[in-house]
Amino acid sequence: MIESEEFTIDNRIVSASQTEEDAALERGLRPTTLSEYIGQDKVKENLAIYIEAAKRRGCALDHVLLYGPPGLGKTTLSGIIAREMGVNLRITTGPAIERPGDLAALLTNLAPGDVLFIDEIHRLSRAVEEILYPALEDHAIDIIVGKGPGARSLRVDLPEFTLVGATTRAGQLSAPLRDRFGIVLRLELYTPEQLSDIIRRSSEILGITCTLDGALELAGRSRGTPRIANRLLKRVRDFADVLGNGEITDVIARTALDRLEIDHLGLDSNDRRMLEMIIKGYGGGPVGLDTLAAALGEEAVTLEDVCEPFLMQLGFLSRTPRGRCATRLAYEHMGFPVPNQGTPGDDPAQMKLLDDA
Ligand code: ADP
Repeated sequence: MIESEEFTIDNRIVSASQTEEDAALERGLRPTTLSEYIGQDKVKENLAIYIEAAKRRGCALDHVLLYGPPGLGKTTLSGIIAREMGVNLRITTGPAIERPGDLAALLTNLAPGDVLFIDEIHRLSRAVEEILYPALEDHAIDIIVGKGPGARSLRVDLPEFTLVGATTRAGQLSAPLRDRFGIVLRLELYTPEQLSDIIRRSSEILGITCTLDGALELAGRSRGTPRIANRLLKRVRDFADVLGNGEITDVIARTALDRLEIDHLGLDSNDRRMLEMIIKGYGGGPVGLDTLAAALGEEAVTLEDVCEPFLMQLGFLSRTPRGRCATRLAYEHMGFPVPNQGTPGDDPAQMKLLDDA
């Protein structure tokens, strides 16, 4: 699997992937309780009940799978779960657990009730997954001791623990792994109002003055993603300091975002390039994701994780069994004439949407 640094598209300001700069910024901004966590009401309501029930029974919370596009608050939520349960949080990622022994070391170091958070859990290797199954079900792992004919399997008991797995696409998880999560929660993109609340909360923490209109202007261009909202806040603060009196107003926000080439809906040049390719290069679609990725010189997985969720939320893109199609809204936003016969993305015959998987 290729690391994200290699994707040109991932270095852009509206990428939802985490950069080192984000990590430093996010440490201070992460909500630590469910009540501080803005939006995702359904997820919060259900989690609150599961947490309360587990606490009353005095046992560890069932294993939780969080899925949704990057930057929506999965890591944050795992920290909140640990805190609300009053236990420790251990954080790792699928690709970091290279060998079964790495996972065994992690698991045997857990204290009773602890939360183990594995980000990008769909990237665990098969061999590591096999170790995980008995750990999740029976709180035990089988370790092979010795080599060759003398090798034998040793069962090691583990404390009860909660695995919180995060993935951008639940469909990529193997069925046996997916089935072992008792709680499966899907995070949705945030509305501009929720993002505006997040921006105002962050600006208060960071000591930035931001008007309601300024926050809404930023929120509207943050692709439904808190990570991007916080990043834009930080960038626009520079413009407010230099071009104004330090206050982020709607005028300052608009000027800054225009300079950053993020349009009023939050699309950047890469999104526009993708739509333009579908419309001009493939007559509006349908075009297969791999073909599109090759034409744009991007990784298919990046288009799928970073561009598509947002373009679909805007109603600019539809995913059909035969490929991606641009909708009338996309033609209009991009300033292309809408074909007389309509656009492929709005054709009912094409609109049989693919399963989430
Ligand atoms: P993910 O793990 O899904 O990529 P994170 O949990 O790292 O996303 O969230 C990115 C940042 O966005 C966090 O540092 C946090 O500041 C902010 N954030 C995410 N969700 C929320 C929320 N619901 N309320 C407030 N801030 C949030």
